[in-house]
Amino acid sequence: MSDMHTTYYEFWQETASRIKDTLPEQEYNTWFNRIAYLKSEDKKVLLAGASQFILDTVIARYRDLIVNTLSELTGEDINVEFVVVSRSEIEQINKPEGTAKDKEEKAEPVQVQAKPKISSEKTLRMKEESNLNPSYDFGTFVIGDNSAFAYNASLAIAKNPGVSYNPCLIYGGVGLGKTHLLNSIGNYIINNTPELKVMYVTAEMFTNEFIESIGSQRTQHFKNKFRKVDVLLIDDIHFLQGKDSTQEELFHTFNNLYESKKQMVFTCDRPISELKNITDRLSSRFERGLNVDLQPPNYETRMAILKKKLVERGSSMSEEILNYIATNVCTNVRDLESSLTKLIAYSELLSQEISFDKAKELLGILPSLAANANQTLSIDTIIKVVGEYFNVSSFEIKGKKKNKSLIQPRQISMYLARDITEYSTTEIGTEFGGRDHTTVMHAYDRIESLMKGDEAFANTILKLKRDLINVKK
Ligand code: ADP
Ligand code: MG
Repeated sequence: MSDMHTTYYEFWQETASRIKDTLPEQEYNTWFNRIAYLKSEDKKVLLAGASQFILDTVIARYRDLIVNTLSELTGEDINVEFVVVSRSEIEQINKPEGTAKDKEEKAEPVQVQAKPKISSEKTLRMKEESNLNPSYDFGTFVIGDNSAFAYNASLAIAKNPGVSYNPCLIYGGVGLGKTHLLNSIGNYIINNTPELKVMYVTAEMFTNEFIESIGSQRTQHFKNKFRKVDVLLIDDIHFLQGKDSTQEELFHTFNNLYESKKQMVFTCDRPISELKNITDRLSSRFERGLNVDLQPPNYETRMAILKKKLVERGSSMSEEILNYIATNVCTNVRDLESSLTKLIAYSELLSQEISFDKAKELLGILPSLAANANQTLSIDTIIKVVGEYFNVSSFEIKGKKKNKSLIQPRQISMYLARDITEYSTTEIGTEFGGRDHTTVMHAYDRIESLMKGDEAFANTILKLKRDLINVKK
């Protein structure tokens, strides 16, 4: 195994910093400034001291503390050994830049002072190990009102990992660019700060690897793998719903990385508050830091995306067709792309420009675009929009209070959720503070009958519905 996998340098740094917090400053400086991390081998950390006297004292007073802290942080039984080296060497090692040999070992920490030279071979290996998809980058991402915030946050993170927005959660419906942005962050970092170790995984890969590591009794290896990175990117964390032991594992990984200020970015197909069967302690970790959303693009952005994709593919198409796609495919970018792919493939097959009528005909059979149309609208958004209209909070709508001023907005929200999303009444009930599906059905019937008897009321509901459909677009 390469040296990179066996270095405990970061764990040593964290150990020293924890010990620093518990000792009087003078005491810490007296002893810990006179020892230094030399290197590590399999489960062994070698520390150097400037004299035998110093080492004897450190061993007598702090050895157990050091061993315990290191073992706790790494999750392994770590051995610590000590050797005497000259005082100037200790000072040299403890200087931020370190010695030449030392630089190699210190390549991993986020706050590296001097950029170590990284061979192209090493860069290549890091790229492979990172799991990133190299074809996604910021340059190919089209920014619209729907995505500007998420894009800017991602770029800021890529430029300064571990510094400001940590952790970050990017959430939004399917096909809106979550995976694209997440990979762009990773690729940017690898290309600009190659000394940082970046790891991209989907939550599914994380889960499978974890299960596998239990089966092969290599959980320690698994833990180390994820705790030794500088940047951890986990895609689609909604996959973790109901997977208790993987959640537990991620919780510990999270804490470990968070404490050592390593950057984490997650994506999810909905706001964290809408996840089910996720432990509170884990969801509170996801919500910490920055949460940004991706919404479906509006018409202008859809046009811009189509045009950019056309250029990327070296293809062309009439404005009329592009306009037709942008007008009719409102769901997400993936659907826009597949519409385009379909037309390009057809025209390449026949080696001729596609006509407007043919385009319409081909796109008419695109499966389930309409059916998907409402998937990206979340129940929380519905509750928020209705709440704003009636001037009550989302919290109150979801809550148990039975004031008249709350019952109606609550029932309207349930009605709209059932009317314009694909969620089942059971799922909707769960979103409204764990209510039964019969309550949702009752609310639906009640609002429907009120609408029949009261035109003004019906208009209010229709207006809300229109607003919501616009939110989505
Ligand atoms: P998600 O992970 O949210 O389901 P993806 O990141 O896989 O979505 O995006 C689906 C497809 O749409 C990808 O090919 C991606 O490159 C493209 N895409 C998404 N958003 C944009 C955007 N704003 N600009 C350009 N391409 C985009
Ligand atoms: Mg994705």
